[in-house]
Parts: sequence; C-alpha cells; structure tokens
Amino acid sequence: MTAAPAIAAERTEVRPLAVLADAGLEVPVLGGGRMRHANLDLAASAPALGVVAERVAGLLPWYSSVHRGTGFPSEIATDLVEESRRTVARLLGARDGDVVVFTRNTTDALNLLASAVPGEVVVLDIEHHANLLPWRERRVVVGLDTIEQTVDALARELARRPAALVAVTGASNVTGELLPIDRLAALAHAHGARLAVDAAQLLPHRSVDLAASGADYVAFSGHKAYAPYGAGALVGRRDWLDAAPAYLAGGGAVSSVELGRVEWHAAPERHEAGTPNVLGIAALAIALDELHALGDQAREAHDRALLGRLVEGIAGIGGVRVVRGFADASDHVGIATVALDRGSVGLVAAALSAEHGISVRAGRFCAHPFFARVGGRANGLRASIGVGTSHDDVDRYVDALARLVADGPREEYHRTAHGWHPLADDRPRPSLLRG
Ligand code: PLP
Repeated sequence: MTAAPAIAAERTEVRPLAVLADAGLEVPVLGGGRMRHANLDLAASAPALGVVAERVAGLLPWYSSVHRGTGFPSEIATDLVEESRRTVARLLGARDGDVVVFTRNTTDALNLLASAVPGEVVVLDIEHHANLLPWRERRVVVGLDTIEQTVDALARELARRPAALVAVTGASNVTGELLPIDRLAALAHAHGARLAVDAAQLLPHRSVDLAASGADYVAFSGHKAYAPYGAGALVGRRDWLDAAPAYLAGGGAVSSVELGRVEWHAAPERHEAGTPNVLGIAALAIALDELHALGDQAREAHDRALLGRLVEGIAGIGGVRVVRGFADASDHVGIATVALDRGSVGLVAAALSAEHGISVRAGRFCAHPFFARVGGRANGLRASIGVGTSHDDVDRYVDALARLVADGPREEYHRTAHGWHPLADDRPRPSLLRG
C-alpha cells in the first residue's frame, strides 16, 4: 500500500453544490420504513441535474425529426443538435478544426477513435476496460509506485518504439487519482504521438480543455456528468476522423449513394449515421454548461471537503484500507475505494443498501488489471461523490461501514448469481412504468 494523500478534511457542514433529480428520494429498507437515499455511486452513473431534467422536459414538445424534416419543430430540433455541438466544443476548449462527434458514451467514443487511429496505441495498466479493449494494436505500460516513475516509464516506451497515440484516463475510476494531462500531451507530442484522454470520471468534477492541456482527443459520457439521456462524445482532431471509414454506416453519413458508389461526408456526420439522440445531446450540452457555471474552484473545494471527510472517516475503521495507485498523487476526484481485510464487500454493499439506504459499488470496476495490482485478490467497495453529495451522505456511509465491518449485517443474506441479496426482502418496489 502506498501512502495516503494529504487531503484536507473539514468537519463543517458541506451542502450539495447543485440539486439533482433524485434530491429527497426515499428508498425502502428491510423491515419496513424508508430512508433518504444516500447516493454514493455517482461514478457509475449520476442522476440528472435538476435543471437538466427540467430543460429536457421543456424540450419534449419540440422533439422532432432532425436534419431532413421540413416542419418548424424539425428546424428547432436540428438547431438544438448543432447548438449543442458548438456548446460542447466551446466548453471542451476545442481548437479550430477540431470536431465533436456525438456517441452513446465513453466506450463508444473510444471505439470510434480506435477505428480511426493509424497505428499503435500505448496505454497504462490503470485504465478502465473501455480504454484498454478497443485498441487493436495495444502496448501496455504497467504503472509504477509514483506518477513520476510512471511518466518516465511511458517516456521510455515511446522512445523504444514510436506509437500513433497515447490513451490515458484523466482520473482513475478506482482511486480517483488525476493524471497530469498537459505533461502527458507534451510527452506524447515529443515522441510524435497524440494524446487521447478518457475523461469519463474527470469531466463530472473538473473542466477539461483541449487547447490549454494540449490533449488531442477527449472522450466522455453524459450519464456520468448528470445527463443520463444516453449521449456521449468524442472531441478532437479532425484528420484521422475524416480519413477513417464511417463508424456507423447509413443515412446521414453520406452525401450521395449509387449502387456502385458512395460519397461519405467528412466528420462528424461521417460517423453519426441514423437518427441522433436529440434529447441526450441537448441534455449533455445543458449539463456541461451547468457544471461550468458552478465554477471549477467551487467544484474542487466541494470535492476536497467531502473526500477528505470520507477518507478520514474510513481511516478510523479497523480492517479497511483505501486503495491507492500512486504514492505521489496530489489531486483526486471524489472516489474512495476500499479493500476489506475480512468478509465480502458484496455483502457489505448489499447491507448498505438494504439496511441503510446507501448506494455504492462493489467489484473490480471494469479495471481488472489495475485492481489486481493495487486492490488485491478480493473485490473492492467504491464510494463516489459529486455535486449532489452532502456531508450527511458521507457521514452515514462511514458510520454504516464501521458498523457492518465490526458487527456484520443485522439481517440474513444469500449469494445468488447476481450478487448478495436479503434472504427475506420485504422492500416494496415502485411500479414506475405504470405511473
Ligand atoms: N472510462 C472510465 C474511467 C470509466 O469510469 C467508465 C465507466 O465507468 C468508462 C470509461 C466507460 O463509460 P461508459 O460506460 O459510459 O461508456
């Protein structure tokens, strides 16, 4: 285990920075009764920002076919998609000539880039599977004890043999540790490569600026950035995307089709065949705009205060250790993953939900190589916070975790193919589809 970072903890009240659509949601717990839901699983998927949900509801009457429709709502819907594209480009610091391709999520965006990259790709072993598996010609550099050593190892690998692209995560979904994007961009460029940033975890917490950082591509998901309507994006350099075969072939990606000859559009249309996810794209732009308006400093301070409280609370629980990747990581987004000396994290996660109304994530977080190196053989338990989190959410989690580790759950659970569940689950389920 590497040393814990010096994260300043503040024992004061920390209120949510923004209202999320699940504010005040109550969930049933075993034995009857309800509790306010403490959602500490935001790194997996976050509820919409309240404003995003409201604005999307306001867009519904205008929802219409895009690009080829002739009605007035169609014009509005088309404008909405293109205005959203400009908003995303502006908020991501896109340079002249960069393109914004709308995708389903980060995985989709990185697969799109993988279909366009003209050569080998170097990645670190700390990546989410979405930034490991799509690269066909992949070379993996194993992370070392510190970020400094790891950057040096990456430099040696690039010096040993050139690559077209270095693809790194902006923030680890296991440890929350941030990587130095600007330094990595400079390093990649010095070796004739480009840099792609998987910003799935970074973007919900910090601004990402292509021009300022020097990164060439950024991929992200709306559902992790408070816009869970099914859109994501790849933003970056145009040339590879223009030269690549259409990622999705079909209507909208072509300017003319004869049976023996097809003229493909340039990016972004080239890769966006079919009817786009108008509402998802608009939600994504609205969410990024709202996050931006909250301010980087305020978001960072909120994260820091809550993460400090979380890590400090966990440090007081025996038999629990926070998983770290790098001894010198000085900046983190709001993620704390723990490994337990004893017992099953799956059981703890089930009891956190069923007895305490708290959502977290148990597993290896689709980062199996990294988790195997730093987390150990058993699974981990991840709590993640964001703009909708309060000190009360964090305190409840720390309290409940301490109790579960010391005394175990109050109720009986059994393990099924889908994880741990209460043996007698009397929690009523809402019938949402029927209103
Ligand atoms: N990259 C990172 C760092 C992630 O944390 C995730 C999801 O957890 C992904 C990529 C994949 O995101 P999505 O499932 O939205 O494609």
